[in-house]
Amino acid sequence: MIPVAVHELPCRADVRTVGTMDGMPRRIEPSTDRTAAARMLDCAPDEVGYCPRCQGLTRRYGRGAQIICTACRAAEEAGRAASGAG
Ligand SMILES: [Zn+2]
Repeated sequence: MIPVAVHELPCRADVRTVGTMDGMPRRIEPSTDRTAAARMLDCAPDEVGYCPRCQGLTRRYGRGAQIICTACRAAEEAGRAASGAG
C-alpha cells in the first residue's frame, strides 16, 4: 500500500484585479474634484493629473504614477489582445 497524501487545493485564489474582461475600468472625468479623484486613485491630490490620451484624471505624478489612465490602458490591452494574438 502506498500512502497517498491528499491536501486540499485552494479553490479561490485571492487575486485582486483592477479591471475585468467585461467591466472596463472607469475613466475619471476631468471635471471631477481632485480630492475625490485622489481618493478613487488612492493617491495624494497633488499626484493627480490629466491622462494625455483621454484627458481623464489619473495618477500622473509621484511614486507608482500611471501616466496613462487605467481606462486607456485597459482599452490598449484589449486592442493588443485582439490584434496580436499568437
Ligand atoms: Zn486615459
